[in-house]
Amino acid sequence: MVWVSISSHDATAQGIIQRDGLANMDKGAEAMYDGNYQTADLLFREALNQLGKLPSEMAYYFGRNSYHLKKYKQAINWLTKYVQLKGTSGQYYDQAVLYLDRANNAYRLIKEQQVQETENQLTTDGYYDCPSDYVMCPICHGSGVLIKPGNFGSVYQTCPYSGLTGKLTCEQYNQYLMGELGMEMRDE
Ligand SMILES: [Zn+2]
Repeated sequence: MVWVSISSHDATAQGIIQRDGLANMDKGAEAMYDGNYQTADLLFREALNQLGKLPSEMAYYFGRNSYHLKKYKQAINWLTKYVQLKGTSGQYYDQAVLYLDRANNAYRLIKEQQVQETENQLTTDGYYDCPSDYVMCPICHGSGVLIKPGNFGSVYQTCPYSGLTGKLTCEQYNQYLMGELGMEMRDE
């Protein structure tokens, strides 16, 4: 077991990445509300890679934007995550339920159509084609270690998603984008 020592310099760098992540999330939300869904998608993905624990509204934004991009399964997974996390008290509860409903309907419709075209293996959810076999783990940012604040100082934990390698397979990364890779989110 190798303990990774994190200097204050690294801690500052992490703070900057977190701040950039939140800024990208906000810019993404603006783009989404303006109807620029592709731009929003890029900004949200950037934010997903930068943010440590994801703020709950990230799940709402990414889920809703996925609906606009016709990635219905992805939309359902993230919006469900948001509703589960925040319950009826969530700031975006009404909107989340509205888009969850729309995504469910659209997804069901497409499933029904797919049954009719059985030989056609078209999927509506775009699979992200990774540039290489492995992708930097967005949860631990490739460090392989998660740092949690504890009562007696920071607690270091091997990243449960990537292990110490800090890498995800392309398959796992797609599961992550789809909202299918379990992860902790922050409930503020
Ligand atoms: Zn990791």
